[in-house]
Amino acid sequence: MIADLHMHSIASDGTLSPDEVVRLAADSGVDVIALTDHDVTDGLAEARAAAARRGIGFIAGVEISVTWNGRLLHIVGLGIDERHQGLQLGLAGLRDSRRLRAARIAEKLERCGIPDALKGVAAYANGAVISRSHFARFLVETGRVRNAEQAFRRYLRRGKPAYAPMQWASLAQAVEWITGAGGTAVIAHPMRYELSASQLRVMVADFKACGGEAIEVIGSGHDVSEYGRLAALANEFGLLASCGSDFHDPAGRVLPGRYPALPSDCVTIHARLQSYLDGRAQPPSRHAVNAA
Ligand code: AMP
Ligand code: MN
Ligand code: MN
Ligand code: MN
Repeated sequence: MIADLHMHSIASDGTLSPDEVVRLAADSGVDVIALTDHDVTDGLAEARAAAARRGIGFIAGVEISVTWNGRLLHIVGLGIDERHQGLQLGLAGLRDSRRLRAARIAEKLERCGIPDALKGVAAYANGAVISRSHFARFLVETGRVRNAEQAFRRYLRRGKPAYAPMQWASLAQAVEWITGAGGTAVIAHPMRYELSASQLRVMVADFKACGGEAIEVIGSGHDVSEYGRLAALANEFGLLASCGSDFHDPAGRVLPGRYPALPSDCVTIHARLQSYLDGRAQPPSRHAVNAA
């Protein structure tokens, strides 16, 4: 079974509609997909319907922005009931922070001699979550930089002139929102945070203490040579092993489901997914926000 448990659509900073993401995944031979947009669940209904039409498994997901020890971490939630009120209140707060941050980034870019960025990104984001990816696209398309990578390196990364620090959710809040909504919390792309080996272990231990249950052993920015190390880390902390492409754009380097199987010595998240596939086709009404 090929499961791709980390993917983005235009509901956040991806470039395809949820329907197109599902179509591409199905055409790429993926059997189970999770849509995990940043701090928003607006794409899930369309993706769920598209997956049902194409006969592939669907897991409702989200990727939550977290501040941990002054750093930005991403925690994926899988198998969430997106109608859960605590989760939605939390995500709404993060989206407020994103709007505030977007205005700050635009001010900083203006000081760098780049005006009108907020108007520019509003057009790309089209009412969806505003991400630094949209600023990167604006900088590329207005000819300020060659590509998104350069936009982050020159302007948008921590320490660069248009970086605007924000306080996102705490690790405990993110895990609580996910588990409260019936989901499983997963540490996204652990190798992307540039943590030392000991910092990584402290982070994983904190996550586990908060009730987190899984970690991406195969994820974006992971080298094949790192799979074994991450599988060992998962086993040491008793975490389930997850896998996902972090797909954003068909023109990008990463395509749905194009990675090796999870190492055979780890406990994969697949059995857990089965319960979400069988039991959560319709979210339970217990947590319903919109009863009507
Ligand atoms: P945000 O969540 O608004 O802080 O934006 C972070 C997003 O920007 C990530 O989810 C990636 O999609 C994208 N991103 C981060 N770093 C880079 C990079 N160096 N090059 C291209 N995209 C990046
Ligand atoms: Mn992204
Ligand atoms: Mn991420
Ligand atoms: Mn992602």
